[in-house]
Amino acid sequence: MAEAARPCTGPDRNCPLCPRLVEFREQARAREPGWFNSPVPAFGDTKARLLIVGLAPGLQGANRTGRPFTGDYAGDLLYPTLLEYGFASGVYQARPDDGLTLVDCRIGNAVHCVPPQNKPLPAEINTCRQFLVATIAAMPKLRAIVALGRIAHESTLKALGLRSAAAPFGHGAMHDAGPIRLYDSYHCSRYNTNTRVLTPEMFRNVFAKVRADLTEG
Ligand code: SF4
Repeated sequence: MAEAARPCTGPDRNCPLCPRLVEFREQARAREPGWFNSPVPAFGDTKARLLIVGLAPGLQGANRTGRPFTGDYAGDLLYPTLLEYGFASGVYQARPDDGLTLVDCRIGNAVHCVPPQNKPLPAEINTCRQFLVATIAAMPKLRAIVALGRIAHESTLKALGLRSAAAPFGHGAMHDAGPIRLYDSYHCSRYNTNTRVLTPEMFRNVFAKVRADLTEG
């Protein structure tokens, strides 16, 4: 059974549910008062057919700018790919006021607060899933979810009510949950691209498949 959705789609900016992340947030607010330093809300229209689920805000990326994948390396690969496949319009300039808009696409995260070393704890992933469930529930036209990395994949599976054993993570793998198809990709992190675990072509191929499926369907 899928977990029950809460009425709101995003956490309060002072969400208190994960004590370790709250402490990390407070430290960042004291050190960098000009940064966003709050749970990062999803970006894009709830009427979109595509949802991209990342891991969590990067300290100097979304946690700094307040827009998912904006301001650090992961966005440098994600946004040009979205532009190439018609899921975004404008010019990505790594700033939340760059005017870039998403087209039939929304971006969220499995965990809404920045975790130390980009590593959320299992309890934090489980606690924040209620907001991923709400994000999914708020998208009536949703047909495709791209999960970036294993943690996003696992949390999305649980949010959709699928069992992990029946839908193992793999780059390029696809799993169907009723009208929604889940597409797996390695995360577009600097580490994964530097080590060639993920090449730009591998990443583009995932979005090419999503685009082809949405065009057909
Ligand atoms: S990670 Fe999610 S549940 Fe935990 S404090 Fe942040 S917004 Fe709240």
